[in-house]
Amino acid sequence: MDAHNFIYGQWVPAVDGQTAKSINPGNLNDTVGTYQDSTEADVEQAVQAAQEAAKPWRKLSGAERGAFLYKTADIMEERLDEIAKTAAREMGKTLAETKGETLRGIAILRYYAGEGLRKNGDVIPASDAKALMYTTRVPLGVVAVITPWNFPIAIPLWKTAPAIIYGNTVVLKPASETAVTCAKVVACFEAAGLPPGVLNFITGSGAKVGQSLVEHHRVNAITFTGSNTTGKKIGQTALARGAKYQLEMGGKNPVIVAADANIEQAVDATLSGAFKSTGQKCTATSRAFVDRAVYSTFKKLLLEKTKEIVVGDSLDAKTWMGPLASQNQLANCLAYIEKGLSEKATLLTGGHAIDQEKGSFIEPTIFECRDHHSSIAQEEIFGPVLALFEVDGIEEALRLANDVPYGLSASIFTKDIANMLAFIEDMDAGLIRVNAESAGVELQAPFGGMKQSSSHSREQGEAAKEFFTATKTIFVKA
Ligand code: NAD
Repeated sequence: MDAHNFIYGQWVPAVDGQTAKSINPGNLNDTVGTYQDSTEADVEQAVQAAQEAAKPWRKLSGAERGAFLYKTADIMEERLDEIAKTAAREMGKTLAETKGETLRGIAILRYYAGEGLRKNGDVIPASDAKALMYTTRVPLGVVAVITPWNFPIAIPLWKTAPAIIYGNTVVLKPASETAVTCAKVVACFEAAGLPPGVLNFITGSGAKVGQSLVEHHRVNAITFTGSNTTGKKIGQTALARGAKYQLEMGGKNPVIVAADANIEQAVDATLSGAFKSTGQKCTATSRAFVDRAVYSTFKKLLLEKTKEIVVGDSLDAKTWMGPLASQNQLANCLAYIEKGLSEKATLLTGGHAIDQEKGSFIEPTIFECRDHHSSIAQEEIFGPVLALFEVDGIEEALRLANDVPYGLSASIFTKDIANMLAFIEDMDAGLIRVNAESAGVELQAPFGGMKQSSSHSREQGEAAKEFFTATKTIFVKA
């Protein structure tokens, strides 16, 4: 597919005609499609289109706006296989994973469609008995949605759907690695008859297209998910010009396994948290702190199960773990494995690229670590690399688990209520998971991190309304 930009309801090439290729990371000979390598001129057109559509769109009722989202969900359901297959080819997750993600996208659309009929403010008692005081939520105007490649369907939707239902118009800029998949998602909105300009889609490099969107004076809010380096830049620019912003960034998520844990359950969750999506989830498990009393049992079972993992083509039903999303990701992961070795961590399993001439495949990798301040224990790797630590009890586990700059998600395995309560109270993470893997997101609940993982607002569920609207307090006297 040749993905064009989508501006004011039309698929158009970039103004200066440049395109780039999207390549299957698991088969470097397979070109998934092309996308537009846009420039500032395209950004200008997309923002103008969103600006033009803003007034009529906000005048519709929530129910009228919601009808478009319900229709988009139905169309996406009809196109599920095609979208899931494109995502698996374009970023390397297995087909089962991309089907799950597409279904999640559909559920997100229906959830926010319903928001059009839900409560939109509060009545507050005024001191004057003859006055009426209440709040209402109003749209912000043009919103920029800037997304990463690791959830190319769900993340654009969990930002775009609430932005639209609350009456904003959107310019969506996806990661270049998954531009073709995202174009297919946008095409569902088009087929649902969304009015021109409500959702605009523009592809190209972050430094050019992303940055000029963030700097644009008519963009009133920016919602971003991606790396900390990019997030910090966006935050500074948005703050300087008074735009509202929301940043969801990296993680270094721990699992704690207490002496009384169900070991099989803890092993399965650690394995899935660390290696599903080839470790490329912001909520992926990247550190495990295991009590000395069960350490060797846990380690033995974890290694046995890790060695059974089938790495292969994302479209092959036998594959459990697909390739990394790009050659850059592979190079980055291998560099961290080298650092781990040079920092004297013990490589327990994995550590090598597989079929490198074919694509960016890598073995699931586990290091046994002692130095908690080493790079592989502190920095986000964003690949299937787990750092395993033996600890003396829950207190030490919690102290080490908290000793990183990130605070996105964290999980504990224990049957002891005192352990659970200590973890819930003392773990610095936005997502706290007890007897469940660190990766796992419910669309109706607030999502986001603490410390450097987030700008501290929350996405999804009711929290989305907070970001995508402004509150007006109204006082009316007879
Ligand atoms: P990235 O920061 O490189 O890119 C994210 C998006 O920002 C892309 O669309 C990119 O083109 C754009 N961009 C790049 N430079 C820009 C700039 N100067 N101005 C504006 N936009 C710019 O991140 P990535 O590699 O695509 O994604 C991986 C990262 O995303 C990881 O750190 C991961 O933890 C994080 N992530 C976080 C969450 C979360 O919800 N916390 C979820 C998924 C991924």
